Amino acid sequence: MTEIRIPADLLPQDGRFGSGPSLVRAQQFDDLLNRATTVIGTSHRQQPVKQLVHDIREGIAQLYRIPDGYEVLLANGGASAFWDAAAFGLIEQRAQTAVFGEFGGKFAKAAAAPWLSAPDVREAPAGSVAHLEPAEGIDLYATPHNETSTGAMVSVRRVAAEGALTMIDATSAAGGIDVDLSETDVYYFSPQKNFGSDGGLWLAIVSPAAIERIERIAASDRYIPEFLNLKHAIDNSRKDQTLNTPAVASLSLLESQVRWMNDNGGLEFVDARTRQSSNFLYEWVAHNPWSNPFVSEEEYRSQVVVTIDLDHSVNGKAVTSILRENGIVDIDPYRKLGRNQLRIGTFASVDPLDVSSLADCITYVVERLD
Ligand SMILES: *Cc1c(COP(=O)(O)O)cnc(C)c1O
Repeated sequence: MTEIRIPADLLPQDGRFGSGPSLVRAQQFDDLLNRATTVIGTSHRQQPVKQLVHDIREGIAQLYRIPDGYEVLLANGGASAFWDAAAFGLIEQRAQTAVFGEFGGKFAKAAAAPWLSAPDVREAPAGSVAHLEPAEGIDLYATPHNETSTGAMVSVRRVAAEGALTMIDATSAAGGIDVDLSETDVYYFSPQKNFGSDGGLWLAIVSPAAIERIERIAASDRYIPEFLNLKHAIDNSRKDQTLNTPAVASLSLLESQVRWMNDNGGLEFVDARTRQSSNFLYEWVAHNPWSNPFVSEEEYRSQVVVTIDLDHSVNGKAVTSILRENGIVDIDPYRKLGRNQLRIGTFASVDPLDVSSLADCITYVVERLD
C-alpha cells in the first residue's frame, strides 16, 4: 500500500464522516460525564432516568413542532425492531412499500409477514427513487425518507388514500432534514445518525390515526410478542418509561444532541447545516474530472448521505484505506452496493468547514495514487 501522509493543515478537526454510527460531539460526552454518578448506574424506574426520557420526548416534540394530538414514542430495539413491531401492530392487512435500497428492502421483507397479504412493493434501482401511490386495498404506505445505503432521498408527502396511514423510515433523515409531520402518521428513527447517540433505541412520532390503529390491532385477537407490542410502547412512553431496561448512556447522548439542536434554531438550523455540507460536496464532485454523483437526478440527491461514484482510473478502496490511516474514517460505500464509490455522512454534527477539508484531503490522495 502506498504510504501517503496528508499534511496536518489539510486535515479536518474531526475525521468521522460515517453514515452511522456517526460523529458524537464533545459536549455530549461532557454531559454524560456530568451524569456519571447521578443518572448513569441508577434505576430506570426512578426520577433521574424518567426525567431524561421526558426531556428527550419533549425535546423531540419541540424540534418537530408536532401537530396537535401527535405523540413521541421511545422504546428499545432500533429501527430494525420497529419494522417487526409495525408488521405486528400497524399494518392491518396489506402495506405498500417503496424500495430503492437496502433499508426500504428490509421493511418490505418485514411487511411480508405470514398473517398479512403480500405487500405491494414499488421498486426502483439503487441511485434512483420509487414513489408511493394510492392503490386499492392498501392500509399503510411506507417509504424511507432518506435511503442511507444509496444516498437518495424523497420529499415526505401523505399518500391521499382515505383511512390509510403514511409511515416514514427517517432513521438517517431525522435531525438533519426539515419536514412537515402533518404529512405523516408515523415518523420513526434510531438515534445513531444525526442524533449522534448509540444504536439500540427507536423513536416514533405518531399521529392520532396511528395511535387508534395500534390500539385497535392490539385489542384484536392477533398474536403480538410482548417486546414488539406498540401498545406497550405507547403506555410506557406516556409515563416516560420503557418496557425493559434502556441503555441510559445512549439516552444521555441523545438528550444532549436534541437540546443542542433546539438551542441553535431547531430543524431549520440542522437543515441549513446539512444542506451547506452536501451542496458543497455536490459542487466539488461536479468540478472533478474523476467523480460523479451516484444519484443522477438532482432533486433526489441526499443532503445527509452524499454518494460519489469514482472513475475507474481511481481505486476507491485504496483512497478510503489511505484516508483511514490518516484518521479520516468510514467513507466507504454501503457494503452490499459493491460500487467504486465514496459515501459521506453530512449529518448535523459534522462541521461544514470539515467537509471542505475532507474534499481537499480526498483530492490530495487521489492525485498521489499511482
Ligand atoms: C441505519 C438505518 C436503519 C437501521 O437502523 P438500526 O438501528 O440498525 O436498526 C434503518 N433504516 C435506515 C434508513 C437507516 O439509515
